[in-house]
Amino acid sequence: MTQRPAIVLVRGDITEQRADAIVNAANTSLLGGGGVDGAIHRAGGPEILAACRALRASHYGKGLPTGQAVATTAGKLAADHVIHTPGPVWSREHDRGELLASCYRESLRVAMELGARTVAFPAISTGIYGWPMDDAARIAVRAVRKSAAPPVTEVRFVLFDEYAYEEFAAALRATTA
Ligand code: ADP
Repeated sequence: MTQRPAIVLVRGDITEQRADAIVNAANTSLLGGGGVDGAIHRAGGPEILAACRALRASHYGKGLPTGQAVATTAGKLAADHVIHTPGPVWSREHDRGELLASCYRESLRVAMELGARTVAFPAISTGIYGWPMDDAARIAVRAVRKSAAPPVTEVRFVLFDEYAYEEFAAALRATTA
């Protein structure tokens, strides 16, 4: 029987992670932004933006749709690949949970295609895009549990602050209970 991939929580900065792939909470333009996106481009250097521009020119003239994922080089980062996925903006009126789950599922699909064993995620959509942390954590943990499979052996959630860490820990406890 194959071992299920481990889900690990760490507090920290995703740009500093050693992992086969790190995931970027991108926007549909693929051309950089604030938050995690800005941090990844700053730390990884111009190679990542050049790769994103090339992808826009070749495949995503109108941008990468929300909930999809695409990989580039990780430039100077310790990771081998950056997987870019635009999260949905949180809305009180519309339930966009399926789109947020899709970010995790599609990023893992791309990671598995690349042969990645370790994959690090930030808390997608919980910054500028306004998603409540408890709900985002529940969706993230559930989607990863469903989708992560070999060759992935470890999925790491990299949480920037104590609050995010606690909410992800609670979501993890709730789904293992
Ligand atoms: P989004 O636009 O998808 O909401 P953000 O980048 O604004 O994305 O924020 C997503 C989450 O990532 C937030 O919880 C934010 O605190 C966190 N974050 C910001 N910078 C980093 C970083 N360097 N490493 C890990 N998490 C980060």
